[in-house]
Amino acid sequence: MLLTNYHTHHDRCKHAKGDVEAYVKEAVKHNYAEIGMSCHTPHQNFPQMGTRRMDYSELATYFKDIEQAQKKYPQIKVLKALECEYFPHLHDYMTELKQQTDYLILAQHYIEIDGKFKDAFHFTKPEQLNVYASCIEEALATKLFAILAHPDVFMTLYPRWDEACEAATRQIAQAALDNDVILEVNANGLRRGKQTYQDGVRYPYPSEKFWSIIANEFPTVKVIVNSDCHNPAYLNDEYMQMARDMAKRLNLNVIERL
Ligand SMILES: [Zn+2]
Ligand SMILES: [Zn+2]
Repeated sequence: MLLTNYHTHHDRCKHAKGDVEAYVKEAVKHNYAEIGMSCHTPHQNFPQMGTRRMDYSELATYFKDIEQAQKKYPQIKVLKALECEYFPHLHDYMTELKQQTDYLILAQHYIEIDGKFKDAFHFTKPEQLNVYASCIEEALATKLFAILAHPDVFMTLYPRWDEACEAATRQIAQAALDNDVILEVNANGLRRGKQTYQDGVRYPYPSEKFWSIIANEFPTVKVIVNSDCHNPAYLNDEYMQMARDMAKRLNLNVIERL
C-alpha cells in the first residue's frame, strides 16, 4: 500500500504540536511516499474565523519551512497546502493562495446565518445543515479546492440522523462529483472517541450513515483517508488505521495519491 497524507497541521496554528519538519520526519519514518502540509489558513481581516490558526504574518515562513523540508528530505514528496473555509468575499484571496500552493482543502468549519457565524461542530438544527451543504456547493463550484475535509463534520453534535442529514449528504456528494473534488474520511473524528446521541452511540465523525450513502448512491466519488494530525505521533496511528479499515469495509472509491 502506498502511504500518503494530505491533511497535516503544525504548531503555528496554536492547537497542534510539532513543526513542519517533525511531521515530515514522522512520514519518512513510516516510509510515506507523500505528505501534504495543510495547516489552517491565516486571515488578515476576518476575526470571526478565530485565533486557532497561524497569523497572516507567518504564512511566508510556513511556506519557507515546507520548501526547506522538500530539499532536506528528497526521499519523500512534500506538498504545500492550506485548509480553508470559503466565503464569497474571500474568493480573490483563495485564488491567490491556490497559486502559491500545490492544492487547497476546503473545510467549512463555519457557516453564516443572519450575519452570525456558527461553527460546524455545534450544529443541532436542520436549517444549519441546509446552509452548510449549500455553502459547500458554492465553494466547490469555484474549482479552487482539491479535497473536501470531513464533509460529515456536521454530525459532531447533531442529535440524530434525519432527512436533513440525508439531503445534506446528497447535495455535498453531487457537488463533489460535479467538480471532481475528493471527499475525505477524517481520522481525527475517531480520536474524539465515541459519544452518546439520541439515536445511539457513535463517533462524532466519520459518520457510517453519511459514507453508506456515498458508497451506495455515489460510488464513483473519489475518497481519500486523511489523518488531520495535530501531533506528529498521530500521522499513522491506530485511528488512521481504523479510518482506512472503515473506507475499505464500506467499499468506498479510495484513492491513495492526489
Ligand atoms: Zn486544527
Ligand atoms: Zn484540519
